[in-house]
Order: sequence, then structure tokens, then C-alpha cells
Amino acid sequence: MSLYHLSNYEIKRGNKKIIIPLGSIEQHGPHLPVSTDTIIAEYFANQLTKKIPSYSLSGIPSGVSFEHKPFFNISISNDLLSELLSQVCISLGENGFNQIIILNGHRGNLGAVQYVPQKVVRINPKMKVFGINYWQLIERDFDHGGFVETSLMLAIAPKLVQMQKAKSGYLNKKMLHSTYSSFLSNTASFKITKNGILGDPRNATIKEGRKIISVTMKNLERTIIELDKLLTM
Ligand SMILES: [Zn+2]
Repeated sequence: MSLYHLSNYEIKRGNKKIIIPLGSIEQHGPHLPVSTDTIIAEYFANQLTKKIPSYSLSGIPSGVSFEHKPFFNISISNDLLSELLSQVCISLGENGFNQIIILNGHRGNLGAVQYVPQKVVRINPKMKVFGINYWQLIERDFDHGGFVETSLMLAIAPKLVQMQKAKSGYLNKKMLHSTYSSFLSNTASFKITKNGILGDPRNATIKEGRKIISVTMKNLERTIIELDKLLTM
């Protein structure tokens, strides 16, 4: 359940976790909206609230996507994103929520997210803050506007996908997608992909999207349960 839809008197403080979906606004090729990462992170956060005692917040769309220049992106610095997330967590702690999960949907946010737990715990040692990168739990090679992201979007927000405009992007079978997506974070994606896509979205389907969602949800739930166990040891 989204916390934003509740009144002050309906919000139950205490043991519930807060899930903060973190996305980006950046180009995802000619067939997907710039909000793709935010929509996917929000979707998983909302689904998770049905599985574990938690509230989700609306997705934070301000991410670090400078690597997509000159394609469209709205980006803030690593420092600002890290500080923004830390202050939101600290404020949630003051409101009685000590367990926070930052559900990250964009690779470029990795650097900023990793500093948040230590920043928050220095201020409030009772808090438990984790960053989870959903694409590390999909059990597929990640892409950018390719088969995986397009299938996910077909399953989550089909009206926002323009399949007739989908085109193959940069493909290099010898290199793992996960390896070259980190390469892309350091180099202009425009230079390498030409059309902003990493992978090939043309065979993406709703059915595949639902399969990826089901695997990812199981892995997300399992990860959160494991984290809880470790913390109570
Ligand atoms: Zn994306």
C-alpha cells in the first residue's frame, strides 16, 4: 500500500518497513518513456507491500543519468542524491520508521545509494537502511531499453510502449550485458549505442515481462527476509 494515500491517523508506525522506489528520467530509446526506470521501481515497491508488512512511497525520479547526454536526461549529482535519500530516511526515522529499503531501478544511482546507510546510521544508530538494485535479481542479462526492460514495461504499463518504434541497439555477444552496462555508465551511451538502446527489444512480450516479474518478486522477497534474519542475529 502506498503511504501517500493514507491520512495521518491511518498510518501505522512501528514495525512496518518503508520502501522508497528510486528511478531516473532518461532516454530509453524511441519506444519507451523517459520515466521507465521510475515506473518499474514503483511497480516492484507496490507489489512488495502486498508481500511484506510495509508501505511504499511514490518513486523518486531524480537520478544520476549524465551518461545519456546528449539524449534527454534530468540528472542531479551523486552528492545531492545521496543527501536527499539520507535526509528522507532520517525524517522517516523521526516519524517512527526505522527500517527503510531503497529499491533502485537505475544503475547510475548505485554510487549515491551505497553511501546512504552509513550516513543515516551515523545520525540515528537505530535505523536499518538497505539499497536493493532490482536488476541484480532478474536472473537475466540486464539491458537498456532492450528485451528485459521492454518486456517489463509491456507487462506493467503497456500503453506507454510504442512497439512499432522498437529498434535493435548495441549488441555484443562476447561481452556480458552487465559488464557493458557499467562501461556505459562511464562513457556516453550515445557514442556506443547510436540509438540509446542496449540489447534488442523487438521480441519483447507481455508474457516474458510477467515471467521476469515473477522471478524478481520471489528474489526480492527472499532477499528482504534474509536481510531481516542477518540483522536480528
Ligand atoms: Zn532503464
